[in-house]
Amino acid sequence: MHKHASSTLRDARTTRRGFLAIIGIASASTTLDGSSVGRLAYAAPLSKDQRDKLTPDDIIALMKQGNERFRLGQESPHDYLAQQKVSAKGQYPAAVVLSCIDSRAPAETIMDLGIGDCFNARVAGNIANDDILGSLEFACKVAGAKVVLVMGHTACGAIKGAIDKVKLGKLTGLLAKIRPAVEATRYQGERSAKNYDFVDAVARKNVELTMADIRRRSAVLAELVSSGAVKIVGAMYNLETGLVEFFG
Ligand SMILES: [Zn+2]
Repeated sequence: MHKHASSTLRDARTTRRGFLAIIGIASASTTLDGSSVGRLAYAAPLSKDQRDKLTPDDIIALMKQGNERFRLGQESPHDYLAQQKVSAKGQYPAAVVLSCIDSRAPAETIMDLGIGDCFNARVAGNIANDDILGSLEFACKVAGAKVVLVMGHTACGAIKGAIDKVKLGKLTGLLAKIRPAVEATRYQGERSAKNYDFVDAVARKNVELTMADIRRRSAVLAELVSSGAVKIVGAMYNLETGLVEFFG
């Protein structure tokens, strides 16, 4: 028996945590006794059955709940070692997150997710090039993820660089992919990288344009979206408050 089992169980009986807790608690009356629920909630990744029962809207709701736990300092007591051991046999992630490389915006941590819960594509400024699109297509069409979450964040250095037209090695070409968001942002006031309000407005526009890009340039994902199998959703992560604000 794992040493975390008792404290994990106690928490699981009173609260809902992670992608797994809702499924674990929902099925408790039919297939699981109380002690199984505790282990399911923290020590195992999603099974295929559990993932397949979730709708895209369920998954989005679970991500919002996970972010709320993070903001309240009530994260799940993850048994990462147990998650690692079980997930080694296979993965059934519910979502794929496309977010920035910023060290302060780790998707799994800020939405209280475990190993095996989501794919994570990270690139400065969360843009979608062909390789990123291929990764999203793999996550959804091949591996069965049902939500594509494009997540920008406040005070993003890549966005500031795009506003300032920074030139540096390969970064120049990456920032050029963010420029359309700078041009498309309607803003009354100082349009500079020193104005964080403008920077955040561009970051949000950039998320919207990336979402549109995904639909427009990936026939595979567009089809999954129109059939209702997959939902593309946007979000902005606020570095100051810890809030992941979903939109779109
Ligand atoms: Zn960033």
